[in-house]
Amino acid sequence: MAQAVETLISADHVLVGPAGTRIADGAVLVNGSEIVAVGPRAELASGVSSATTHKDFPGCTVLPGLIDAHVHLAFDASADPVTAVRELDDETLLAGMADRARQLLDNGVTTVRDLGDRDGLAVRLRDAIADGHYPGPRIVAATTPLTVPGGHCWFLGGEVHGEQEIRAKVRENAARGAEVIKVMATGGGLTKGGAQTWESQFTAEELRMVVTEAHALGLPVAAHAHGSTGIADSVAAGVDTIEHCTWMAESGFEVLEDVVAEIAAKGIAVCTGASPNWRKFAERFGEDRAAEIFGRVRWMAEQGVRLIAGTDAGVPNAVFDNFAGSLDFYRFLGFPGEQILNMATLDAAEALRLGEHTGRLAPGYRADLVVVGGDPIEDLDAVRDVRLVLAAGRPHVPSGAISN
Ligand SMILES: [Zn+2]
Repeated sequence: MAQAVETLISADHVLVGPAGTRIADGAVLVNGSEIVAVGPRAELASGVSSATTHKDFPGCTVLPGLIDAHVHLAFDASADPVTAVRELDDETLLAGMADRARQLLDNGVTTVRDLGDRDGLAVRLRDAIADGHYPGPRIVAATTPLTVPGGHCWFLGGEVHGEQEIRAKVRENAARGAEVIKVMATGGGLTKGGAQTWESQFTAEELRMVVTEAHALGLPVAAHAHGSTGIADSVAAGVDTIEHCTWMAESGFEVLEDVVAEIAAKGIAVCTGASPNWRKFAERFGEDRAAEIFGRVRWMAEQGVRLIAGTDAGVPNAVFDNFAGSLDFYRFLGFPGEQILNMATLDAAEALRLGEHTGRLAPGYRADLVVVGGDPIEDLDAVRDVRLVLAAGRPHVPSGAISN
């Protein structure tokens, strides 16, 4: 058996992860799928054998591989992603999913959480990527989201009614390889008919059944929740992350400040699913309404809510090849660069229960890293200039990247 080859990757800066920890003229030593050492370039270079491959990136920064905590690989980001997902045969859909996974990797994304597909295809793709058949990020898949009959994303196959069906679907997903359970606590914009976006689909009691069953199987729960009641019920039920969290009500918005305080106190992560095309959202919804939604995201962060990066890639306009565009949303809100990068690395890793495996550069961690031109803390746009990606130690150079 061939011995794993050691590679020493060096650059002007290495951002190891936790805020404020930057190594100037730094390096990362990788062996196979694992990080072996992180430190000053001179120190690491003097300790390696002559067989070690050196890759130096002047003018660049090495940072932990990025994490998109909310994608739908089965959706194609077109104006009507639903028809394709319903009509394509498995193999064709899987090929499309593999292509979209590769686009995310091109963007420096080495881990994604897929929050809803059909027939376990994301699990098949996860395994194929892990086996090296396709280039792509690690996939943490929810498989089929639980919804009510005719409810949000019912066409993915997760319609459940009553306690027995709820518990059975959670177990079915787990058996299929789900690593997280997704529940549609409220309606959503993508689905015609069914509950309105702000309207609850499940009772607090039913959400508690989902959580109890999932936690008994060792799985976290991600709740899609736009409406204030759905958010409050999800929090009371003990879900692990809340998706969107827009505080919609029948007319306008209704922020429940005590629930926000509870989200912060319990450390429940909130993924707003900021589309790379969030500026279009502002145009469509009107400036006032958009400003209200946007301002609330900043306000939640000020209240101590842990936000994590995610794009909702796959739904209309949420493309797979502009992760930086989604991060730009937080820059627009005035978040410092360091905080934005944390949201897309270590904070997201912790929320996905991968905090001991990825999201930072440290010995023993999975070799998930990205090399970008420039310094992303000084200027977030550097994240658009991806030179090299390592996902589980596998090198990937995006097409069109400046070669090195
Ligand atoms: Zn979604």
